[in-house]
Amino acid sequence: MTMNAFLKRERAYGGCFDRVPVPIPAEGEVLLKVHSTAICGTDIHIYAWNGWAQANIKKVPLIMGHEFVGTIVELGKGVRSLKVGDVVSGETHINCGLCYQCRNGMQHICANLKLPGLHRDGSFAEFMAYPESCLVRLPESIPIEYGALMEPLGVGVSAVENAQVAGANVVVVGSGPIGLGVIAVAHAMGARKIIALDVMEYRLGLAKRCGAEHAVDTSKSDPGEFVREQTHGVGADVVFDASGNPRAIAGAFKYLRKGGEVHLLGLPSEPTAIDLAPDVIFKEATVYGYHGRKMFSTWTRMLGLIESGRIELESLISHRLPLTDAEKAFELLLRGEDASKILLLP
Ligand SMILES: [Zn+2]
Ligand SMILES: [Zn+2]
Repeated sequence: MTMNAFLKRERAYGGCFDRVPVPIPAEGEVLLKVHSTAICGTDIHIYAWNGWAQANIKKVPLIMGHEFVGTIVELGKGVRSLKVGDVVSGETHINCGLCYQCRNGMQHICANLKLPGLHRDGSFAEFMAYPESCLVRLPESIPIEYGALMEPLGVGVSAVENAQVAGANVVVVGSGPIGLGVIAVAHAMGARKIIALDVMEYRLGLAKRCGAEHAVDTSKSDPGEFVREQTHGVGADVVFDASGNPRAIAGAFKYLRKGGEVHLLGLPSEPTAIDLAPDVIFKEATVYGYHGRKMFSTWTRMLGLIESGRIELESLISHRLPLTDAEKAFELLLRGEDASKILLLP
């Protein structure tokens, strides 16, 4: 049996649409019929074949994609907790279960992580085989396509639940899908004032819909001045960076208040210069980094927030396209057109 899939076939720019064999679930895995799958920043790196992708992709041909929701259509040997017909979303950090991190409650940063769409075939396909241990059943009350947003939203939930946001003045740098998720969750968790930053008018509009009180276009005005003005000269209590922009990150340490927190979610593509003495040491700033979601406490909290109606996910989705339009979707994102999350429907 064969299926449609969007692949990285050559170690070069782009991707292609092709017929490939339907995968066979290994022991402990299930076969899913993919319902929707979303394009992530990582997929754009892989499609564009930048330096990061060249260094990290070992296997081609490779079915791309890692943010997905689907219905189980077949069980591999030994699967115990899931059944045919279950709707599941995927935790993309497939961990080994044996390393130091796995044995000490940090499975999400396992030393031997394997990610779909990077190390093994991913979700830009009609079917996908996936380990039972990394799937999460989606409650019926949550619209099925939201399952494809859980993975990126979870990064934001993980950061916000670790931050002191209740009653705090919060700045979110970068209003792409990750930043918008952070805004929605920080709003739900009782932030006092959320200031969103971006350079795209379209995204700033979405930031306001997700709960930001102010949305500042940093190509037109100085965010530092604005933050100080809004906080009576004190500075931001908590900053989340979802931009990965080295200049924006360095700038954030300047308008962070003394004793404040910086949470880093965006991935800079080059080293970032921070002036440690004034901006971290004398300031007593606390800095956190995030790679993924806690397995699986972040998922539990995230599903609770969505089911309670406290976060609204519709604003995060800008396009729903058939999988056959994957190339068009990537080109649209690379041109910087108005978009946030694009869902591909196999
Ligand atoms: Zn992702
Ligand atoms: Zn491990």
